[in-house]
Amino acid sequence: MMKKPMVDAMNKQMNAEFYSEYLYLSMAAYFESINLFGFAHWMKVQAVEEHGHAMEFFDHIAERLARVEVSGMAAPPTEWKSPLDAFQSVLGHEIKVTGLIHKLVEQAAAEKDYATGQFLQRFVEEQVDEESNADTIVEQLKMSGDSKGALLYIDHELGKRKAD
Ligand code: MG
Repeated sequence: MMKKPMVDAMNKQMNAEFYSEYLYLSMAAYFESINLFGFAHWMKVQAVEEHGHAMEFFDHIAERLARVEVSGMAAPPTEWKSPLDAFQSVLGHEIKVTGLIHKLVEQAAAEKDYATGQFLQRFVEEQVDEESNADTIVEQLKMSGDSKGALLYIDHELGKRKAD
């Protein structure tokens, strides 16, 4: 059984993961609108992955005899200045999510909630990947500068991303 402050924090994180799903869907829509379909595909795969994260929190909360609370959320932004601007937002967002996960790990330890602590370890590792993946794309976009050819090459590569 999970204590109330932990339940509230885990519900908050579940809703943050749903927000991530919507943020990446909004970015997919942005990329579709500028005809970068590989980028859009990458974002759609990312959105599905975030939905999966949210559902892992959903299941963990329910399994721990606590009540899942799906809340409303703020609408994500809809416009970015460039692909680089969008991916810098991805990196910034993931760094923020890492901070939220680390706070949950600290809370679980403080409350001696070992099951939640163990559940969260997978997300500690996941965030290392998320930051690294976003950073790689940010750096490649910086490298490509104003080259349309390089941008289309990155678009082609991102279009190959497989669903996890
Ligand atoms: Mg996530």
